[in-house]
Amino acid sequence: MAEHFNIGGAIDALGISFRQSFKRKVGPGSEIGFWTEKWFDDGPCFNEKFPRLFALESNKNCFLQDRWVSLDGEWRANWEWRIQPRGRTEGDITNLENILNGLALKMDDNDGWIWSLDNNKGFSVNHLSKLIDSRILSPGCLGRVVNWNNWVPRKVNIFNWRVVNDIIPHLSNIYKRGIDVHSLLCPLCDSDIEDSNHILFNCHKVKPMWLKCFDWWNYSVSAHPPSFVSLVSSFFSHNNKWLAKICHGVSLVVLWAIWRWRNRIIHTVSDSRQAVIDEDIFPQIQILSFLWISNRCKRLGFNWSTWISCPWEIVEDLINADISELKFGVEKKLFHQATKLGGLGFGKFFLSWVASFSAMGRWAGVAKCLFDWLLPTSRAHSSIASVQEFIYAEPWYI
Ligand SMILES: [Zn+2]
Repeated sequence: MAEHFNIGGAIDALGISFRQSFKRKVGPGSEIGFWTEKWFDDGPCFNEKFPRLFALESNKNCFLQDRWVSLDGEWRANWEWRIQPRGRTEGDITNLENILNGLALKMDDNDGWIWSLDNNKGFSVNHLSKLIDSRILSPGCLGRVVNWNNWVPRKVNIFNWRVVNDIIPHLSNIYKRGIDVHSLLCPLCDSDIEDSNHILFNCHKVKPMWLKCFDWWNYSVSAHPPSFVSLVSSFFSHNNKWLAKICHGVSLVVLWAIWRWRNRIIHTVSDSRQAVIDEDIFPQIQILSFLWISNRCKRLGFNWSTWISCPWEIVEDLINADISELKFGVEKKLFHQATKLGGLGFGKFFLSWVASFSAMGRWAGVAKCLFDWLLPTSRAHSSIASVQEFIYAEPWYI
């Protein structure tokens, strides 16, 4: 138990307010402790708020349904005191009843828990891990845009996580740990000190791999990027989530391949080292990324020749598949089906999603039809307001 408490504390220490995030969902009140659980609001439990009354309570572990009952269609308190309250405690009863006034228990529902960190939905490990990653991973790194990419293997994601936290064993890190190294110079170019940025991005032997990769994806490089790392980050910072995910996956494979290459150079005997340095690892990057991504992206079968000659077509296919599913939902007037697609709820998430493919240009018309259709069917007025705000605020709609 103490261990769980510490884990909660460790998560809180990241600024997440984890331990305060679980709240009671009130149903019939048959499982909720009236005095001892925080079920009413964010304030203290009633035993702390009304200690004089709690002292007089005959059953300190009573449930909400024992103390708040419906009689003749009206909800009222049902107290059981050890001694009839008098004086100030009578005033406490009035105050407590004023708080409870208007409460109607939902007899056809269940008592449960809601988790305030995910829009009051149920707790999910996936969402929590995203929250933790967003606090741990430093901004501007390769892991930030899509923290965990399930289109590439776990080991590749873990390697990226280690890069982001700068804990890969490059020569500068080994030296910092007090281990004697023969030289701090980069094993590829032998002209600069090896650290994460140099060996994975800036080394003049490594940059051509990234540039070939950009060229492969038809990505035009801006003439004066603030840094090469920022250029790589912009390669997968697309509005379209599929394009962002696939380019991020490819980038992770490039990192992985460069590090493997670097290790092979280090572990090769000096006579044949130059041959390994002169290798072109770009074809390996294409093969590995094809194998990994095509096996893990279940939605479509990949074709090798498309992959190496015009990979963006694969993304277009994914977007097309989304649109036909969505159109099907709209045509059938199945609001739930349309909004549930991809696990996305109605609201800004859904809108961002529609916006993401409309940003590709040709889908703007489809996005407009969807909004026209979805707007009148929206059940919550607050959602309509957010839809309108989004439509008029975002340049993609024009
Ligand atoms: Zn170098």
